[in-house]
Amino acid sequence: KANNCTLTRILLKLSGEYLGGESGRGFDKQIIENLTDQIIEIHNTGTDVAIVVGGGNIFRGARSAGLDMERVTADQIGMLATVMNGLCLQDALERKDKKVRLMSAIDIPSFAESYIKRRAVRHLEKGRIIIFAAGTGNPYFSTDTAAALRAAEIKAEIIIKGTLVDGIYDKDPNKYDDAVKYDELTYTEVLVKELNVMDSTAISFCRDNKIPLYVLNLKQQSSLYNFLQGEHHGTLVYN
Ligand code: UDP
Repeated sequence: KANNCTLTRILLKLSGEYLGGESGRGFDKQIIENLTDQIIEIHNTGTDVAIVVGGGNIFRGARSAGLDMERVTADQIGMLATVMNGLCLQDALERKDKKVRLMSAIDIPSFAESYIKRRAVRHLEKGRIIIFAAGTGNPYFSTDTAAALRAAEIKAEIIIKGTLVDGIYDKDPNKYDDAVKYDELTYTEVLVKELNVMDSTAISFCRDNKIPLYVLNLKQQSSLYNFLQGEHHGTLVYN
């Protein structure tokens, strides 16, 4: 179980939808302003920050646009969408004078560095923020699984999933007034209760590799900073 006051390296998972704000589409200026301020706030305390971005604000896998598309092709478009988000986030952080490296799981060298684990770790050691794009580079996976995989590779102590809700609920809080939020859960409970946190591949990976996950509402000012200072408002998932 993670003690949030001693964390030195975190992996922040951002869905594409988060970047899209209210509409969940495209880029929301206010969201990106607030998000980058918060990332910088924790990075300035000396915490290593790696980010995995999703792509749902631009393209939503095989379901997107109702097209009857081959799954692999749709997933490739989805992975490219995450590269766009990575470029956007890199730009937004650089405009606030941070050193950032966008690393892609697919080779697209004129846009981003190709992902090499040792190089990623070196960037962190040099005080750079890294953004991992293109998920795992493989179709049939999600960026949640990419977050779990990269967290294991770079030895992040926790995955923080930034969302627009306060944590994990027993049912959708946007649909049900009596939805109850969990403060803590085990991975097995998440799988058994089929809670909508991350896909089961990502959850199993985190359980097998003992990587804790914290789900928090990123829209709150200083939510990341406060979490690292020991506050607990979201939901912690662990083995
Ligand atoms: N994707 C993929 N392999 C990966 C990660 C992502 O094929 O390793 C594709 C998949 O189509 C997915 C899309 O990229 O739907 C966008 O990622 P995701 O849905 O995880 O983004 P989020 O929901 O976090 O915005």
